Amino acid sequence: MHKTDFDAIVVGSGPNGLAAAITLQQAGLSVLVLEAKPTIGGGLRSAELTLPGFVHDVCSAIHPLAISSPFFRTLPLADHGLTYIEPPLAAAHPFDDGTAAILTRSLAETARSLGADESAYLDLFRPLMDQWPRIDADVLGPLRFPSHPIDFARFGLNALPPSTWLARRFKTKQARGLWAGMAAHSIQPLSNVATSAMGLVLMLSAHVGGWPLPRGGSQQIANALASYFCSLGGQIETNCYVTSLAQLPSAKAVLFDVTPRQLLQIAGHRFSALYQWQLKRYRYGMGVFKIDWALDGPVPFTAERCHQAGTVHLGNTLEEIAASEQWAARGHHPEKPYVLLAQQSRFDDTRAPAGKHTAWAYCHIPNGSEVDMTEAIEKQVERFAPGFHDRILARHTMNPAQMEAYNPNYIGGDINGGIIDIGQLFTRPALRWSPYRTSARGLYLCSSSTPPGGGVHGMCGYHAARRALKDVFGR
Ligand SMILES: Cc1cc2nc3c(=O)[nH]c(=O)nc-3n(C[C@H](O)[C@H](O)[C@H](O)COP(=O)(O)OP(=O)(O)OC[C@H]3O[C@@H](n4cnc5c(N)ncnc54)[C@H](O)[C@@H]3O)c2cc1C
Repeated sequence: MHKTDFDAIVVGSGPNGLAAAITLQQAGLSVLVLEAKPTIGGGLRSAELTLPGFVHDVCSAIHPLAISSPFFRTLPLADHGLTYIEPPLAAAHPFDDGTAAILTRSLAETARSLGADESAYLDLFRPLMDQWPRIDADVLGPLRFPSHPIDFARFGLNALPPSTWLARRFKTKQARGLWAGMAAHSIQPLSNVATSAMGLVLMLSAHVGGWPLPRGGSQQIANALASYFCSLGGQIETNCYVTSLAQLPSAKAVLFDVTPRQLLQIAGHRFSALYQWQLKRYRYGMGVFKIDWALDGPVPFTAERCHQAGTVHLGNTLEEIAASEQWAARGHHPEKPYVLLAQQSRFDDTRAPAGKHTAWAYCHIPNGSEVDMTEAIEKQVERFAPGFHDRILARHTMNPAQMEAYNPNYIGGDINGGIIDIGQLFTRPALRWSPYRTSARGLYLCSSSTPPGGGVHGMCGYHAARRALKDVFGR
């Protein structure tokens, strides 16, 4: 490791670490990023996990939050090699009867596909879409007095109820199922308060910016962020696992793209007793079991619309999805898990050899579980795509424990850096004036364990860096 001094050090090169590093470097500071693994990117890596020529997204795959991120959209990432591909449909949600609900860029087309719920969908989303450009930065940031309080309050009225409650606006199986699949991205029982927030943000982002995938894999987002950072003069070192502050070169500020448990191990001795107590109480959520497949052909979905969608949600009705999430949250392994599937190679020919395909899927199971969900997930895919099994050339699986071994931020397989429930939505990791500041001067948390939480948007890193700039550098 370099022994030269830096203005700031960022530990971890996930999207939030890179966003923090760019924000600081843009302000004219000298910044060093230290990454534990041989490659940068955290949840943005892509790799040939199965067979040569098949490029899989190891973690994140679909990027509505990145393309519409108030910070990322200010960066010249296209000039640094990033190209987004937008599938014709953002998402499809097939049912046992062979039909599918769809989510597209067009509000009207999505609403029309929901039949008798067309007007209910428009009544909910039309006003929210109108308000979204005025409130997106507040929704994707720490709790503070919003710049448009009335719009923000209106959004909150819809976002705070449990998603099962908001589902009462819809009467068709199609609209209720589609909604449940979106809300289940919150990785908690759908009856929990504020699970509507995730569903609304994801559906709004489809209508506003689409649900794209990066050409060449999610790694390309990390590569473009890193390339831009280095073009500003920033430095990155890989293979540098930080376990103690004593390892670091001197710097005026250190920002950690890690979760509270790791932060306590690295810097706990510098924190007040109260802050240590707060971090110890931080809660992690369910884990994920993930599969990547190399396929001999595309996933043979019965419902035609599924072939045009980047993401396909497999869980049938709202009732089935709610039961699966509830069962997993109670510590069990669902027989028919709610499965989130992406089919990148359908739209990006760099992902697989000609004529072959990749698919990516995961389901939610108890934190830390080592149970193999391969059969249960593949049965769900087969249910909506008969003949799928026969197309599998190779598979790569990761259970929650393996997820954590792969990325130390995924504690017990929790991909959001801590559960995003009402107690930890805006006040992650603890109730404080600034969630990014620790109790030790110059040390900051910038990972998804701070607001606005999980997902590839970089807003946690951006806000943490802004805090450090004000506190330490008077900018
Ligand atoms: C299976 C899966 C699917 C997902 N799908 C999506 C999706 O489709 N769309 C989406 O928006 N989001 C998705 N996510 C979530 C998204 O990847 C994360 O929310 C996001 O990556 C969090 O960013 P981060 O910068 O906070 O942390 P991370 O991306 O986890 O990065 C943290 C980095 O810090 C490094 N690090 C940790 N500890 C140390 C240390 N002590 N020393 C040095 N380096 C350290 C790690 O190696 C890692 O590189 C998914 C995640 C998973 C696992």
